[in-house]
Amino acid sequence: MTIESALRATRERLAQAEAAAGREAGSVRLLAVSKTFPAEAVREAAAAGQQCFGENYVQELATKAVELAELGLEWHFIGPLQSNKTRPVAECAHWVHSIDRLKIAERLSAQRPQNMPDLQVCLQVNVSGEASKSGVSPAEIPALAAAVAALPRLRLRGLMCIPEATDDLPRLREQLAVLPQLRTQLAEQGLALDTLSMGMSADLELAVACGSTLVRVGTAIFGGRTPRHPA
Ligand SMILES: *Cc1c(COP(=O)(O)O)cnc(C)c1O
Repeated sequence: MTIESALRATRERLAQAEAAAGREAGSVRLLAVSKTFPAEAVREAAAAGQQCFGENYVQELATKAVELAELGLEWHFIGPLQSNKTRPVAECAHWVHSIDRLKIAERLSAQRPQNMPDLQVCLQVNVSGEASKSGVSPAEIPALAAAVAALPRLRLRGLMCIPEATDDLPRLREQLAVLPQLRTQLAEQGLALDTLSMGMSADLELAVACGSTLVRVGTAIFGGRTPRHPA
């Protein structure tokens, strides 16, 4: 399957998921996760109309963003971020989904170039409680959200999660329900968020049914990945 046809099939899946969930057509954004795939694959997807791309590794994001600068794409950083690697992200990304502590947000805020638009950010929530998972526990989100929202040159847009890899549907639903619950809680606190980043190739229908506004899809668009980086 070409990237163009895989992209068309994924958009169709997303449209059906929106309809099945009673959501407005076009209300869920599709982020194409291009990690580990070459710049050429991104060009192909861009030629088929895809505008926003997700990357997990800082160096790979920086390289592709520079190489493909003339395409005017929107870059989302979705991977774990160490504090000594924030600068290229602050300088290349339009969005960061994986803020999991204040220190990272403070560095991005300080390093965001003055001449660029605000960096759009989401807080990553650990919805499964697994110790191995990145993200902040739901109980810590209100304080972190208030602190991040107060930083200059960042704009707090929402929440992101990666649920447990399980076939247990009720369990998945329960984990995906955490983000909309937190959004309601934050709205009561006076923080209005418009983005819930959840859903990947395997679970995008369920995520849309649970209120996702942005799905991050890699495999279904670009095919299987051969791991290049250690997990
Ligand atoms: C790789 C990745 C995705 C895409 O996963 P697929 O199963 O390939 O669709 C989404 N989100 C994050 C954070 C990822 O690291």
